[in-house]
Amino acid sequence: MTTVTEKTLRIELFAKELGFDGFGVAREVPAQSVAKYKNWLSLGYEGEMSYMCRNVEKRSDLDLVLSEVKSVVCLRTNYLTADKGMEFIHDKEYGDISLYALNEDYHDVLAQRHQKLEKKIKEEFSGCRTKPYVDTGPILEKPLAKNAGLGWIGKHTNLITESVGSYYFLSEILVDAVMEPSEPSLDKCGTCRSCIDICPTQAIVAPYVLDSRKCISYLTIELKGVIPIEFRKAMGNHIYGCDDCQIVCPWNSFAVKTDEESFRAQDGSFQLIELMRLNDEAFRKRFKKSPVKRTKRRGLLRNVAVALGNSGNLSAVGPLIDALSDHEPLIRAHVVWALGELLGKKALPILNKTLTNEEEDIVKNEINLVQQHYS
Ligand code: SF4
Repeated sequence: MTTVTEKTLRIELFAKELGFDGFGVAREVPAQSVAKYKNWLSLGYEGEMSYMCRNVEKRSDLDLVLSEVKSVVCLRTNYLTADKGMEFIHDKEYGDISLYALNEDYHDVLAQRHQKLEKKIKEEFSGCRTKPYVDTGPILEKPLAKNAGLGWIGKHTNLITESVGSYYFLSEILVDAVMEPSEPSLDKCGTCRSCIDICPTQAIVAPYVLDSRKCISYLTIELKGVIPIEFRKAMGNHIYGCDDCQIVCPWNSFAVKTDEESFRAQDGSFQLIELMRLNDEAFRKRFKKSPVKRTKRRGLLRNVAVALGNSGNLSAVGPLIDALSDHEPLIRAHVVWALGELLGKKALPILNKTLTNEEEDIVKNEINLVQQHYS
């Protein structure tokens, strides 16, 4: 008779054949991770991501997600398709996009792999039930992945694997059969604090604690409204997410690129002025298959306006003046700030003229701020 250990091993080998880079099995969400999560929420560090406050019970009790759950298969998928160091911060012409977002949207590829792996699990553990997770619901995936031996949660709060680094997606399959559990990973951050020191907005407020409200990934992707002024300069040329804390992490010197062709994006150039000129249709066409579509055009061009304001590139002034008549108030508001940054006092006549026709408060407010600053 085949043992649980053998069945689990056969599933692991099949997962690797499907293209998953890492496989492990956890039994439950560690109680201390739930307590830490609740404390994090109590401090308001989730910002506008209100979905994180919902279903806290489900996050801590997987039985509420799949009754009689006994095992969580945790999976790692490398998304690294490009080299990246910190030199991009000096680029005045191009925006910086998080490495995972350089690729095509990964959800379809992973969902197909999950289906095949679920079928295999059901073959090995006949009659079992499964539930897949690819960013689809409330689950504390990092503590589960740590318990499944996939890596440890670094001081920047991403999962890190010793021989791999941290450029990968996590996904899970809940199973109501007992599988062979893996050995949990041990923390190997030691005395290092490179990620804490590099963070442009000091979002890692203590080792292992991230205040999302300050994180550039949150500000450029999750936040839907006006970017608080105090973070705009620190955002530099980040226009969609941020990898700074991962780039400086010494463990990412072991990262290797994926050979998964379906992740590779067709168009990887993010020239700021070109992006500022994208109309609705051009945006839809350009980012149809990209994770970047998540911010919608108004979110991305808001970020691009901030990056142009930080660029010192006077060639951006013309396109920014054109964007003062954009139909999205959110974009116009950040364009006002950008013109103030690039032109200083000289922006005032342009903005005074704009103010006479402007009806939206968020734009008027930005104009008033620039006026106050330079008068
Ligand atoms: S940069 Fe250093 S402290 Fe931060 S996650 Fe990597 S090893 Fe840990």
